[in-house]
Amino acid sequence: MGVVMDISRRALDLLLPPQCFSCGAVATEPGRLCNVCFRDSTFITDPMCACCGLPFEFEVEAGRLCGVCVAVQPSYDHVRAAARYEEPIRSAVLSFKHGDRTDMAPGWATLLERAGREILARADIIAPVPLHPRRLWRRRYNQAALISSELSGRHHLLDAPDLLLRKRMTRSQGGLSATARRRNVRGAFTVNDIYRQAVTGQNVIIIDDVFTTGATVEACARALKLAGAETVSVLVVARVVRSGQVH
Ligand SMILES: [Zn+2]
Repeated sequence: MGVVMDISRRALDLLLPPQCFSCGAVATEPGRLCNVCFRDSTFITDPMCACCGLPFEFEVEAGRLCGVCVAVQPSYDHVRAAARYEEPIRSAVLSFKHGDRTDMAPGWATLLERAGREILARADIIAPVPLHPRRLWRRRYNQAALISSELSGRHHLLDAPDLLLRKRMTRSQGGLSATARRRNVRGAFTVNDIYRQAVTGQNVIIIDDVFTTGATVEACARALKLAGAETVSVLVVARVVRSGQVH
């Protein structure tokens, strides 16, 4: 019964006009933001930290790092985010993550192409930050894996949805301090043995939806570097930028 209802709902969706990612208003094309939400989003462009992509308020010389990346060099080489994690992008990300809006994946992939053009041009392998199997079972899909496989097809990269494995279930990072987040995910990821050879000396891209403190992608990048990856770059849909954090 459930399946029948699901199919008829999808058939109905095809007859409806495309909806904006964020507000649900009629959009010009499927998998897009409407013009109003697009205008209200803050897309991240130069100048930014050469490593973690934190936006700078003023022009800086090329290769400049933010204070955080100077203090402790991350395991990842680059992070690039399409937009700031603020409304209306925030609502769109949440419905992509929890609201079954898997149709958004191609649209997000297009935004990530803009933010990560240079990274995509020299990458070999692309992989999502994995969900724990129990969480994947509950949500039914890994939102980062949908974007990752979309980009692998467009840029002829090796799509490795199971490149990284979670060694243990970690508690949700929400509400944790930066230090607690690092501790929570430290050593939580490992590189799948079937990719050990494929990773050596290669340029790897990791896909995630939101970059908050970077603890999760740091743990993933560290595992990949230990496995012999040449570079690890991270592409995320949105990045948290706290007031006062912009240099
Ligand atoms: Zn930085």
